[in-house]
Amino acid sequence: MNRKMNYKKAGEVSNWLFISSVAAIGGTFFFTGYVQLTLLILGVGLIAGGIAVRVIYWKCPHCRKRLHLGFRQEPKICPYCRGQLLPDKEE
Ligand SMILES: [Zn+2]
Repeated sequence: MNRKMNYKKAGEVSNWLFISSVAAIGGTFFFTGYVQLTLLILGVGLIAGGIAVRVIYWKCPHCRKRLHLGFRQEPKICPYCRGQLLPDKEE
């Protein structure tokens, strides 16, 4: 991955981390013993990773203020500096 991390990429990455964590924690219901424990630790780690990515990278590319932690609706312009945020599709 040689592309620079931007806030949109970070949002995607953190969403995948959260989805994976749900899968891992959901998996604990089907296993017992060390497999269950491993999945639980993995799930907690993925949640922590997802939160960390959000907190570190989920920022306006212009003024560096932290954006709202929404998962579905992304603002088109920054509410702080009114700068244009990244388009949905990258060319
Ligand atoms: Zn801004």
